[in-house]
Amino acid sequence: MTTNDLQTHIQDAEQHRAPMLEVRELETQFFTRKGVARVLDKLSFDIGKGEIVGLVGESGSGKSVTGFSIVNLIKSPGKIVAGEILFEGRDLTKSTEDQMREIRGKSIAMIFQNPRGSLNPVLSVGDQLCQVLKYRQGMSKEQAKRRAIELLTLVHIPEPERRLKAYPHQLSGGMAQRVMIAMAISCGPELLIADEPTTGLDVTIEYQIIQLLKEMRDLTGTSVIVITHDLNMAAEVCDRIMVMYAGKVVEQAPVDQFFSRPSHPYTLGLLASRPSLHGSAEIPTIPGNVPDLIHRPSGCSFHPRCRWATAECSATEPEPQTIGPHHTASCHHLEEVQRDIAAAR
Ligand code: SF4
Repeated sequence: MTTNDLQTHIQDAEQHRAPMLEVRELETQFFTRKGVARVLDKLSFDIGKGEIVGLVGESGSGKSVTGFSIVNLIKSPGKIVAGEILFEGRDLTKSTEDQMREIRGKSIAMIFQNPRGSLNPVLSVGDQLCQVLKYRQGMSKEQAKRRAIELLTLVHIPEPERRLKAYPHQLSGGMAQRVMIAMAISCGPELLIADEPTTGLDVTIEYQIIQLLKEMRDLTGTSVIVITHDLNMAAEVCDRIMVMYAGKVVEQAPVDQFFSRPSHPYTLGLLASRPSLHGSAEIPTIPGNVPDLIHRPSGCSFHPRCRWATAECSATEPEPQTIGPHHTASCHHLEEVQRDIAAAR
């Protein structure tokens, strides 16, 4: 490779990583009778064009609230109270409901677990797909039907013409999720948010859905945020992983770095909880529960559960530290943690 080729390659790579979504200091709070729950606490992260990024963490870490905040579907008593969500340079927190409806229909799509529950039970698959295509893309009935068949073929649904006539209750969970993916990509979104897309599916189907998400990204260049508690799934599909705890990203890294050099004590606990790692190394599991977000712990939110916690941890919130290219972790004692992990191996 010549120097010029190398420079072009680097520029292409940087272009590929240019952020299309920038979340800055986002605060989403829930105003309950017991008090204000600060569910997202100055959350900041970027998503690059064409990137598949995993948002991982325990239930209650703020993963799904992040997804719903991006598409502005936070329901009362929740509210975005501060921060920016810059999507291709435009701040979504300042958009009107009409503008957001347009963005949700064309530029950002979301799929959920329980896909059958997300489909309209009284309309056939074809009717639902064609409605979206006619309404969003202005297609005629014939054009919409042709495109619906193409989309079902794209997501590997056998006999797509026959499936157009099927109702949601006639589809398996995996088939229904394929239909949801077809609907999500029908308008060519720039960003797809997949919230626990394989929960409840058996392992073989889960693998097929993961492969499908990758194929869709490769084919369309759509960026994907995969929200999951399943690190094995994230390892299969993601380019980069972000770990959330108490409404913040506490560690993020390219997927190979993430698994070869996990650094934050919470990440180590999550990895230790993976079934495939049981018994492999003496790294800690996570005692206790996610914190009460109305009475958040002072300093580092993880300190009540962390075996490395010191007085500094309960007094001062740690800033992200750079560990390697695109790899950061927010912890006061990264060196001690690494030393202890190396000694335990
Ligand atoms: Fe643990 Fe302290 Fe690091 Fe927080 S800052 S993860 S409490 S060592």
